[in-house]
Amino acid sequence: MHVGFLGLGAIGAPMAAHLARRGRLTVWNRTTSRASQFAARTGATAVAAPLEAAEADVVVTCLGTSSDVASLLDGPDGLLAGLRAGALLIDCTSGDPAASRRIAARLAQRRVAFADAPVSGGTNGAEAGTLTVMVGAEPAVFERARPVLEAFGRRIEHVGPIGAGDALKAVNNAFLALNILAVGEGLVALAKAGVAPRTALDVINASSGRSFVSEVLVPERVLTRTWPRAFRLALLDKDVAIAVGLLAETGVAGPVFELTRSVLGQARVALGEAADYLDPIRLTEQQAGVELRG
Ligand code: NDP
Repeated sequence: MHVGFLGLGAIGAPMAAHLARRGRLTVWNRTTSRASQFAARTGATAVAAPLEAAEADVVVTCLGTSSDVASLLDGPDGLLAGLRAGALLIDCTSGDPAASRRIAARLAQRRVAFADAPVSGGTNGAEAGTLTVMVGAEPAVFERARPVLEAFGRRIEHVGPIGAGDALKAVNNAFLALNILAVGEGLVALAKAGVAPRTALDVINASSGRSFVSEVLVPERVLTRTWPRAFRLALLDKDVAIAVGLLAETGVAGPVFELTRSVLGQARVALGEAADYLDPIRLTEQQAGVELRG
């Protein structure tokens, strides 16, 4: 099967590398040097326009936002000009459900199938090929997408109709965001109260307040002061905004999600577009005059 992949960012590149190892892969990236370097490294073919990558049997997109994906559809070099009837577009962007439904409707006019298939597991999971993939699609489309997703995913779940994958991913990341903010606040307060961060986490991780943030992210990246640049805060903020929108759309009161969005949005303004998603913890540290080490 010939796969086209658009979006060789922090997570897209390691996902695409798995596809390159499995078969014929054509890649496109807005910053062309990234695509040519990727091609030199993996044996994939780099092309200059989305249109050329769209000539594959299955096209995978992994861009920042759904708007970025929609912006690639039109124009003489756009995806719609290249996609053949019967093709499949799998969007691994952590997207917006309503935007994905609009994209799917436009593709359907050309008899092109669509699945939203956002991923979780971070850049480490992408490199290891162990991502969780949450798919919104018609059942038959999901079955067509599955072999492609298996290249980089370990758990591949069909969670509902088009948009359902995006909705689930947004709620997942709202949980992630509120855990990051809460663990940062709590550990800084405990440090000031005389409890060493490592001790606090050891106890919390054997207790009911534990989370992926307390078990993995803070011990490995904050306490060690390594702070790798893995996932941009701006993208997490986008995800929480989508989750807030989902609650509004479904008529569910969401004061916790809204507060998370507000605090994260302020951190994004203070830290800038290149900041990593764990950097808000640094703000809490700075405000308190404490560094979490251990
Ligand atoms: P990056 O910011 O590293 O990369 C974004 C990619 O999208 C780049 O290839 C960029 O091109 C491209 N892009 C952005 N805007 C446009 C546009 N308007 N037109 C064309 N291309 C565009 O993001 P990530 O790789 O980290 O994330 C990609 C998606 O995956 C996001 O939706 C994110 O939320 C999600 N995700 C990320 C995870 C992570 O750990 N990083 C984990 C799980 C999900 P260029 O190179 O030119 O900038």
